[in-house]
Amino acid sequence: MQYQLEQTQWWSSQSILRHQLQQLSPLVTHAFRTTDFYKQLYKYNSLKPNEVLTPEQWADIPLVSRLEIQQAGAKLVSNQLPNGHRMGGEISTSGSTGLPVVVRSTQVTKHFWHAFTLRDHLWHKRNLEGKLCVIRKADKNQGMPPQGSVAKGWGPSTDVIYKTGPSYLLSITASIDEQLDWLQKINPDYILSYPSNLELLAATARKRGIRFSALQQIRTLGEVVTQQTRQQCHDAFNIPLVDNYSCQEAGYLALQCPEHEHYHIQCENVLLEILDDNNKPCKPGETGKVVISSLHNYATPLIRYELGDFAEQGEPCACGRGLPVLTKILGRKRNMLFLPNGKIIWPLVGSDDYRNVADIKQFQLVQTDTESVTVNLVVADTLSTVQKDALTTIIQYSLQHPFKLDYRYMDEIPRSKGGKFEDFVSMLKQHD
Ligand SMILES: [Zn+2]
Repeated sequence: MQYQLEQTQWWSSQSILRHQLQQLSPLVTHAFRTTDFYKQLYKYNSLKPNEVLTPEQWADIPLVSRLEIQQAGAKLVSNQLPNGHRMGGEISTSGSTGLPVVVRSTQVTKHFWHAFTLRDHLWHKRNLEGKLCVIRKADKNQGMPPQGSVAKGWGPSTDVIYKTGPSYLLSITASIDEQLDWLQKINPDYILSYPSNLELLAATARKRGIRFSALQQIRTLGEVVTQQTRQQCHDAFNIPLVDNYSCQEAGYLALQCPEHEHYHIQCENVLLEILDDNNKPCKPGETGKVVISSLHNYATPLIRYELGDFAEQGEPCACGRGLPVLTKILGRKRNMLFLPNGKIIWPLVGSDDYRNVADIKQFQLVQTDTESVTVNLVVADTLSTVQKDALTTIIQYSLQHPFKLDYRYMDEIPRSKGGKFEDFVSMLKQHD
């Protein structure tokens, strides 16, 4: 399959779309015939066997919201899998709010997961015999600080084909200083962790004057990477940060270009559309909602599914790959801010200005209603009145409204159920 992926990345975007519709047309028929959910949604299906949907017909297929997928449950699962698509286990996304989405994997979707993991290694020319240090949410009793735990290889996707170096795991429950001490002992070639954790790790490493002599790349998972994340890691370690965009429901959605900081959609796995408020495709430079269709999942068909994320459509990439470009990926809709005038915006939080006001170690903004935001802070010293006023001005300005701010001091801000840290949470109902 790597040979095929090596070829298809250079196809033109038109040719890629044509092949995607060739793959999705039988899936649409399959979903209509073998799931109660799509039978009710589509009402009828006029496609003949071997007929391929045109782009116009595709655009007429109704979108499916996250809430609908959550509520569909077993109605979404196919009652008849084609040969070769053996049913796999259940995958439950670790959404920190609301109902989790549950989909079924198959042998085929697992196979594709492995293939794109390998493509990511190949694109970014990793030395697979190097030492990989992973700091993330770990299973119970795994990776306990201060020692962490060791595994023989990098993981099943890579180990089946290549001999890989050891990987080391430390639970994200370790303090930043424990993490740095642990990393110093191992001297890693690669570090993989959550962006918010990496930012603090990089800043603390700089303060303590720690460099890792063998470190080649920082890799990320589970959270939105901002320009600030890249800058902090670059300033501390002077090496590139490589991000990717995936979801548990559909696997890899986009990988970072080998030559640029933007992302190429993984079209051999998913048809990913960026749509505006009228469900029309966004032009380069515009931000819209991410709508995905999984090309290979015949167990739980996901067709024009609104993932809940937003992204910015990019221009074709100078590297020559025909895989379309995403320039920015924004977090889930549940993290959007509701203004009293009814507008919903991507909240700008956590600028360096916060840290110019006071020694703020960690922060989290929680919108409790359309007029109020709770500011959770981890600080060395309680803020003075002057500092509080200064911070209030910055936050109100960046949130575009004079919200009533309620300050709370904490020893540590807890992570969500999935081990992610969310710097902005809204308690307001986010579904349409
Ligand atoms: Zn590129």
